[in-house]
Amino acid sequence: MTRLPALFLAHGAPPLLDDAEWVQELNDWAKAMPRPESILMLSAHWEQRPATIGATRTVPLIYDFYGFPRHYYEQRYPAPGAPALAQRLRDTLAQVAADPERGLDHGAYVPLVAMYPEADIPVLQLSLPSENPRELFELGRTLAPLRDEGVLIIGSGFITHNLRALNWHGESAPPSWAEEFDEWTADAVRTRNFDALLDYEHKGPAVNLALPTREHFVPLLVAAGASDEQDEVAFPISGFWMGSLTRRSVQFSS
Ligand code: ZN
Repeated sequence: MTRLPALFLAHGAPPLLDDAEWVQELNDWAKAMPRPESILMLSAHWEQRPATIGATRTVPLIYDFYGFPRHYYEQRYPAPGAPALAQRLRDTLAQVAADPERGLDHGAYVPLVAMYPEADIPVLQLSLPSENPRELFELGRTLAPLRDEGVLIIGSGFITHNLRALNWHGESAPPSWAEEFDEWTADAVRTRNFDALLDYEHKGPAVNLALPTREHFVPLLVAAGASDEQDEVAFPISGFWMGSLTRRSVQFSS
């Protein structure tokens, strides 16, 4: 079986799906990869300890955002569940819980609508059990063998995520702190300098401006943990959105 990549992607927000260019980029990216048997998704929008398995059958999406136009609350993504993958995780992870009624949150389904619009690939969401970098990296290492079993592992967040520094009206140049943090992270990933990456809170420039909270960054550490030396690193999507949000997305593949 073909080895699947491990990904980190910037998941935008519901309005991503109105951005034809970004939707096309995500769709092109998905088409350029081997087709997964199933998708394991870890989103910034589900933090629960211990690592918790979401629904393993098709249940409604979670509209975990407020004050958006109504059509965003009508989005559907009825992907099949992935009970076999869930069982594999129960057998693999030292500590695991289940929340069988939990559907995909917007960090999980928004990019999937663009990537796999037919919603015909089984999807399982797993919670982030922690924001601890080392712990999440180790979780990625534990998950890495799934890549040889047809599983596409996706960490979903944003490398910069400061909601007070958004520009909702038109395009403006990204602030220097956002560009610097984005570049620093890209360098650490490209060179597999994971010691620095895991110490991003100390080594990353202007980390408190780039990431007033950390949950959007840390899914990257799961993807990095699921990579190995044989993998090439690519950034299929980059550039900025709403001023300061980097769209940088990462593919580890071999
Ligand atoms: Zn988000």
